[in-house]
Formats: sequence, C-alpha cells, structure tokens
Amino acid sequence: MAQVLFLGGLGRSGTTLVERLLGELPGVCALGEIVHLWQRDVRDDERCGCGARFSSCDFWDAVGERAFGGWHQVDVYRVLALQNAVERTRYIPRLAASRLPEEHVALIEEYAGYYAAIYEAAAVVSGAQVVVDSSKHSALAHCLRWWPGLDLRVVHVVRDARGVAYSWTKTVVRPEAEVPSEMTRYSPARSALLWNAHNAAFALLGRRGIPVRRIRYEEFVADPRTGLLDLAAFAGLDVTVADLTFIDGEEAELRPGHSAAGNPMRFTVGRMPLRRDDDWRDALPPVQRRLVGTVCAPLLRAYGYPLRSRSLP
Ligand SMILES: [Zn+2]
Repeated sequence: MAQVLFLGGLGRSGTTLVERLLGELPGVCALGEIVHLWQRDVRDDERCGCGARFSSCDFWDAVGERAFGGWHQVDVYRVLALQNAVERTRYIPRLAASRLPEEHVALIEEYAGYYAAIYEAAAVVSGAQVVVDSSKHSALAHCLRWWPGLDLRVVHVVRDARGVAYSWTKTVVRPEAEVPSEMTRYSPARSALLWNAHNAAFALLGRRGIPVRRIRYEEFVADPRTGLLDLAAFAGLDVTVADLTFIDGEEAELRPGHSAAGNPMRFTVGRMPLRRDDDWRDALPPVQRRLVGTVCAPLLRAYGYPLRSRSLP
C-alpha cells in the first residue's frame, strides 16, 4: 500500500512551495492537488507541471493505465457527485465521527478508493516510497482516513492569517487553462472565516489518530533545509543533508515535476527564490489587518503568531 504525505491547510499558505521542495527529495513523488485532477485534467485536459497536456503526459498516462485501465474508464461525473456528497467542509464534524451509518461509509470509501488507486499507481510508476498529495482540503483528508490500510500522514501548513487574507485579494492568472482565467479571490473577512474553519479541522484529524505535523510557512521558508529534514523524518524517509544540495542560500534548483493541478508555481523549473512573502505588512490596509487579526485571534495565538502584526520579527 502506498505511503501518502498529504499537504493540508487553507490555500495561499505556502503548500505549493513546500510541495516543490519535497518533490526534490529522493524517494518522493509530488502529485499536485489531486482533488482537482478529475475536473481540470481528466475532463478539461489542462496542463501538467511538466508542461504537457494531461492526456499527453507519459507519467499520468502510465498512472491512469495502472490505476483504472486508462483514464477513459473513470466516470468523472460519478467522482464529482461523490465529492459533492461526502467531501464538503461542512461535513467535517460528521466525517470526524468514530462511527457512521454503513451506507455513508460506502460512499466515502468509494470516493477515497479513487484516490488510493492513484497513489498506489503513482508509487509504482515513479518507484517512490512516498507520494505527496497537496490537495489542502481538510475534508478530503478526513475522507481518506476511512480508506482501510492507507498509510496517511498529514502536514498541516499554517501561515499568518493576515498574509493569507492579503494573498486572497490578489489577482493570480491560471496559465494552465485553455482559456486563460483567474484564481478565485476572497475578501479578507471571508478568508479569515475560512482560515479558522480549515485550520481547526486538522486538529480534529489528529484526534482521530492520523499523524499530523504542523509547520509554519514563515519558519519553513526561513530555514527550508531544517524544515525538509524534519518532514522527511516525519514521512519515514531516509534523507540527509547531502540530499539537500538543490538548496543554495536563498534559492532552490527545481527539476520539472508532474504536478496535476495547483498554484502556477508548479510550472517553475530551475532557480526558485526562497523568500518569505511579507507584502501584506505594507499592502493590507490597517482596518482589514485588525479585522482578520480579531477574527483569527484564538488560533493565531495557539500557533504562536503575535497578534500585533507590527511586532513580528
Ligand atoms: Zn507531466
């Protein structure tokens, strides 16, 4: 059975950066955000991280063949219907229960089974010990918990809610679509509420016995080598400093990957700067900064973030 490292957290928390660096480690295969693969790749044939259309990528072709006998065998609309029926943020309290009605467990297992098939096939095709799914959605991690025998370990990436809120206000173009489009935007008030809900859901997962390692984006970027060694140990990988030569000072050297979906950073090849994105400190208006700080105060405090944002180091 494949070993899965699931990167979780609210979007714009730095999960893509963590994924790209993890993908450079020996024994790791980074898959991108599998939660979006059904619609964006299998149905819409968007571009893989390697630059090829999903249907023209040899890696995903081999994975689909091994997992399902070819992607044409997958009923995308069935997967999306299951997603809608079981994998919603508002269902998390129910998903986190210790027991559920049998018919509901059957739906969750059918849904999780599609993911398990991909993980297993990707591990075989790549020869990797660990596959990384950076789907982020806590509800998906809660669904995967129900798949029997899956070695699921969760990395919960948190970032200062004010940085996340600012990032959600920015316009980001999605280059992978046939018709260029933009990534979703949220108001700071909305993203503050989402930040609370999504982050709290990962604590619930930990209480159900899933190994969860929480990392702070800001700390990880400041010292990515230590952060990677720590995550590799958490994933059970034998990685040493000698495996981290792709990180040089404040840059990383990236090879092409096969991330199926996610932030445009998945297309970056070659030098990638490892710089903490702190633009929000000057760019997020004080009124909004205070609003987000107030709404998110309990968890910000729990994660060790100073509430007075100006006093951050
Ligand atoms: Zn590819």
